[in-house]
Formats: sequence, C-alpha cells, structure tokens
Amino acid sequence: MTKIFIDPGHGGTDTGATGNGLLEKNLTLEIGLQVRDILQSSYQDVEVMMSRSSDITVSLEQRTTMANNWGANLFVAVHINAGGGTGYEDYVYPGVGLPTISYQEIIHSEILKQVDFYDRGKKEANFYVLRETGMPAILTENGFIDTLEDANKLKDPSFLHSIAQGHANGIARAMSLQLNPYTYRVIADGKQEGAYSNYDNVLSEVEEHLGEALKIEVEKV
Ligand SMILES: [Zn+2]
Repeated sequence: MTKIFIDPGHGGTDTGATGNGLLEKNLTLEIGLQVRDILQSSYQDVEVMMSRSSDITVSLEQRTTMANNWGANLFVAVHINAGGGTGYEDYVYPGVGLPTISYQEIIHSEILKQVDFYDRGKKEANFYVLRETGMPAILTENGFIDTLEDANKLKDPSFLHSIAQGHANGIARAMSLQLNPYTYRVIADGKQEGAYSNYDNVLSEVEEHLGEALKIEVEKV
C-alpha cells in the first residue's frame, strides 16, 4: 500500500493569498480533493490522507505531524503563488537529493503537460512542511492569484481539474502506482450514481444510497 499525504495549503482563518476575487485556501482545497479522488478512483493499492478536506484551520505543525504519524510515503503540499509573476513552480528542501528530486522532476513535468502555465522551474526552499516531514515532500505553487492572466485560468473549473490531473499523474508515475484494471458502476434504482475503480469509493457510494434506494447494483465493467 502506498500512502500519499495531500496538504491543501491554508484554510479556515488563514485564507492564504488573495486576489482577483479568489482565496488561495479555496483553490488549494478544490485541487487537493480532486487529486485525492483521481488517485483513489484510478489506482490500485493507494491510500490518501488529507491534512484537511474542508475549510478548517490547521497549523503547519499539525500537518507534518499527521503525515509523520501516518507514515506517508509522499507529502504533497498544494499552494497558489502571489506577489506578482506568472506560472508554475515547485519546491523541495535544499540539498534533499534522491529520491525526492526525481519525484520533483516527474511531478513538475506531469503538471506542465496538463496546464498551459509558464515554467518557472524546479526550486528549493527551507519551508516548514518540507523540513519537518520525514518522507519525500514537495510543495507546488500553481499560478499567481494576484496576476490577472493566472487568476482567470484559476477561475475555470476545467483548468483546476487539469492541475489536479497533473498532480495525480505525477504522483502516480513517481510512486509507480498501477492503474486499476476494472471499473465498477454503482446503480441505485436504475440510475448510475458513479463509476469507480477503487473499492473504497464503490463502497462509500453504495453506503450513500443505502436506506433510500430500493435496489443498488454494482456492475463490473
Ligand atoms: Zn500558500
């Protein structure tokens, strides 16, 4: 089982950066949740833990402690940049070496394959979450919230989905995750409610309709 820890930056009382009507905390959460969903629905033997899956305040120490106690194999922090500029960049801890820098290489290129962001490069920084995590860790900065061109991209749900897909593809390739061979359709009272490859997702969809639906079918396709 490969354990992936996804850390959507900021949250709750900490909005993160703001600009052009956007709050960083909302964008990082949306991207993070989608990365989780893609990994869980498409890949085998992967577990995902989130530092937060709603708009709550979580300290940096809580984030790294959660990942360390869980024994994550990879820590991915998702942020949106600010301060004037444009494009995508990511960070690892200075001088961290292998395998982290090879993961950075892979995740960086997979994200830029999915989105038309200017490539600001692969960088290093002494950030708390990169320093205090006991496993390979990367922090992504997905566009500038205070630059109109980037903000307009970040307002497009399909663009956010592409950012998430890039993260998921990069994480999967870096960690050698295997795609699920089958999909299961969950059908409640004749209506398809979802299609998943991950058993947990199948079961939670079934659970959602238990008690309401007269008939729930799970079909392997
Ligand atoms: Zn941030």
